Amino acid sequence: MKGKLAETTVNFVKGVGPRRAELLNQLGIFTVQDLLEYFPFRYEDYRMRDLSEVSDGEKITVQATVYGAPYVQMYGRNKSRMVCKVIVSGMPVNAVWFNQHFLRERLRPGVDIVLTGKWDARRRQITVAESEFQAGKNRQTGRLQPVYSVSGDISQKWLRKVIKQALEQYGHLIEEVLPAELVHKHQLLSRREALFGVHYAENIDEGQAARRRMVYEELLMFQLKLQALKAANKNRKHGIAHPIDRAQVEEFIRSLPFTLTRSQQEVIDEILRDLREPGCMNRLLQGDVGSGKTVVAAAALFAVVKAGSQGALMAPTEILAEQHMRNLQRMYEPFGIQVDLLVGSMTEKQRRDVLASLQMGITDVIVGTHALIQEDVYFRRLGLVITDEQHRFGVNQRSILRRKGMDPDVLTMTATPIPRTLAITAFGDMDVSTLSELPKGRKPVKTYWVKHDMLQRIIVFMGKEMAAGRQCYVICPLIEESEKLDVQNAIDLHAQLQQAYPDFRVGLLHGRMPAAEKDEEMRKFKDAETHMLVSTTVVEVGVDVPNATVMVIYDAERFGLAQLHQLRGRVGRGEHQSYCILIADPKTEVGQERMRVMMETNDGFEVARRDLELRGPGDFFGTKQSGLPEFRFADLMSDFEILELARDDAADLIQRRDFWTSPEYAPLREMLQREKVLSGDILD
Ligand code: ADP
Ligand code: MG
Repeated sequence: MKGKLAETTVNFVKGVGPRRAELLNQLGIFTVQDLLEYFPFRYEDYRMRDLSEVSDGEKITVQATVYGAPYVQMYGRNKSRMVCKVIVSGMPVNAVWFNQHFLRERLRPGVDIVLTGKWDARRRQITVAESEFQAGKNRQTGRLQPVYSVSGDISQKWLRKVIKQALEQYGHLIEEVLPAELVHKHQLLSRREALFGVHYAENIDEGQAARRRMVYEELLMFQLKLQALKAANKNRKHGIAHPIDRAQVEEFIRSLPFTLTRSQQEVIDEILRDLREPGCMNRLLQGDVGSGKTVVAAAALFAVVKAGSQGALMAPTEILAEQHMRNLQRMYEPFGIQVDLLVGSMTEKQRRDVLASLQMGITDVIVGTHALIQEDVYFRRLGLVITDEQHRFGVNQRSILRRKGMDPDVLTMTATPIPRTLAITAFGDMDVSTLSELPKGRKPVKTYWVKHDMLQRIIVFMGKEMAAGRQCYVICPLIEESEKLDVQNAIDLHAQLQQAYPDFRVGLLHGRMPAAEKDEEMRKFKDAETHMLVSTTVVEVGVDVPNATVMVIYDAERFGLAQLHQLRGRVGRGEHQSYCILIADPKTEVGQERMRVMMETNDGFEVARRDLELRGPGDFFGTKQSGLPEFRFADLMSDFEILELARDDAADLIQRRDFWTSPEYAPLREMLQREKVLSGDILD
C-alpha cells in the first residue's frame, strides 16, 4: 500500500535503535506497516480467573494480595524456593516461586500482584511462572497476550511493546483501502480497527475478526490480480498453433502396455485441443497419486514433437527427473524420439553436449530440474513446458523464455488434490483438468494405525513381504526444525533395521546426502538391489516403484493429511496388495481423526475434503499447505469461503468501468500495481 506507513522504516518507532531495527529486518519487518501487519499466530491467555472455576493442574492467572512474609529456602548453587501467603478470591493460598527470591523485597503485606502459574487444588498452591506488580495498561498479564513468531535476540515482551508503541505513534495514520460498500457488505472491521484489534484483542473473537478482515483484503487483491492477468492472457494470440496429427498420437497410445483410463483419455483430448489453438495453454492437471499423470505428459510431449517442436519436462528433484527420462525413453523407443537429461550433477562436458544438442534441435524432449529454464539454455523451437509436482511455472520463467523469443504452452501437474471448486478459484489464471480415477485393477492400499508397541509385529510382517519378493519403505521419525537430528535418526534406524534383517539389503536415503548418492540409492531400490529403503521424507513425491508394497511411517501424527496421503501413494502402484502402516500416538482429537481419515479412505480428493473439514474456520491462524500459493494472512484450505467471496467481488469490480477511474477504488488500484500479492512469483 502506498502511504506514510509503508515508507516509514521501523527505526522511527520509539525504542527501536539501529541494532534492534536490524533484528526486526531479519523477521521481514522493515517498515512500520510491516510491523503493524505482523500478526500473532496465537494468544496466551492471561485473563483473570476466579479460583472457584478452575480445576486442579490448570494454568491460571489470578489477582492476589500479599498478607504473609515471604519465606526463602536456598539450596544447591543459587537455587531457591520462596513461599508467600497471599489472598486470592478471598481465600488464603500459598504462592511458590523457584529461583526468584530477588522478588522478596517487593512482597510486602497489602501489595497487589498478578500471578500466573499452575494451580494445585489439594495444596491450595500456585507455582508461579510469572508475577507482575505493575498496574495499568502496560501490564502484560491479566489479559490475552498476542504471541508472535520471534527468533534470536528478539523477545516476545519486547516485540509486544514495540508493536504497541508503533500503534500509539502511527495508528492514526492507518488508512482504509477497501471500498466502503465491501466493508459494509461483509461486515468487516476497518483496517485501523483490525490492526489495533489483533494486537490488543480482549478475546479470541476479536482476534478472529481482525484476521478475517486482513484475509479478505489479501484474497481480494489476489483475485483482482489473477483475474486481471487471465483477462490479459485471453487476448494474447502469439502462442504456437501446433499442427497435431491425431492418428499419430493414437498410435502412440496403442503402443503403451496398458489401456488409458477414461479420464486420462479425456484430459489428453483437452490438452490436444489447447495445443492446436494459437493462444498459450496454461493448464493445471491435478490427479491423485498413482492416477497416471506421467503418461498424459508423455502423450502431450509426443504430440508436440511430432508437430515439429521441442518439449521440456521439469521435475522438482534429480531422482524424479531421471525416473521420467527412463520412462519416456522406454515409451518413445519405437518412435525415434530423442530424450535427454539436464541436471546439476552432470559433468561440464555432458552439460555442454546436451545444450548443443538442444540448440541444434537434435534433442526432442529435455527432462530436468528447474535448471532447464535458465538464461544459458537455448532451444531450437520450444513448444511445450510441463512441470511435475509442487512447482508452478512462474511468470519469471515465462518471461525469461519470452525474451528468448519463445512462448510455449504450459502444463502444470500436481498431486495435491484439492476440491475442484477450490482449485478453480485458487488457480484462477489457469484452466484445470482433473484425473478423477485410478487405473483399473488397483487394489486399494490397506491402511493401519498402530502404536509403537506393535513394532515387533511390523518387523515380522515386513520380513514376510520381503521374503515374498516385495519391497518396503520406512519413513523415519521427523524431528521438527532440526535436519541434523533427522539425519541421525535415519542413520540409527537404518542400522537397527539392517540388523533385524541380516538376509536383506536395507538402503538409506536422507536429505544431507549428495545428490549423486541419493540417486544411486534410489536406483538400487528401483532395481530391487535393496529390499528396504529407510528414508526421511525425501521419497514423498513422484517416486514410482511398483514392486514396493509396504509403507511404514514413524510418528505419523507429525505429518499433515496431504503429506501422509502422498507417502502412502508410493505403494499400491502394482498388482500386489499393498499396506500403509501409520505408527502414531496423537495427543489431540484432530490428530486422531487424521489417522482415522487415512484408514477410512484411499481417495485423495476425499482426504482433501476431510482435511478441509478438520481444519475448518476454527483453525485460528491456519497452517501452510503444500501445493497451494502461500499468503501472509490467508490459508486457502481453511479460508476458502472468504476466497469465494473475494473471487465474486473481484469479478464484479473488474468488469466495472469506474473501477479503473473512480477515486473510491484508487487504493485498490495502487495496491494492484505495487504489492507483490503472492510469494513465489506466480504473478508479474
Ligand atoms: P502419478 O499420477 O502419481 O504421477 P504415475 O504417472 O507415476 O502416477 O503412474 C503410476 C503407475 O501407474 C505407473 O507405474 C504407470 O506406468 C501406471 N499407469 C499409468 N496409467 C495406467 C493405466 N491406464 N493403466 C495401468 N497402469 C497405468
Ligand atoms: Mg508423478
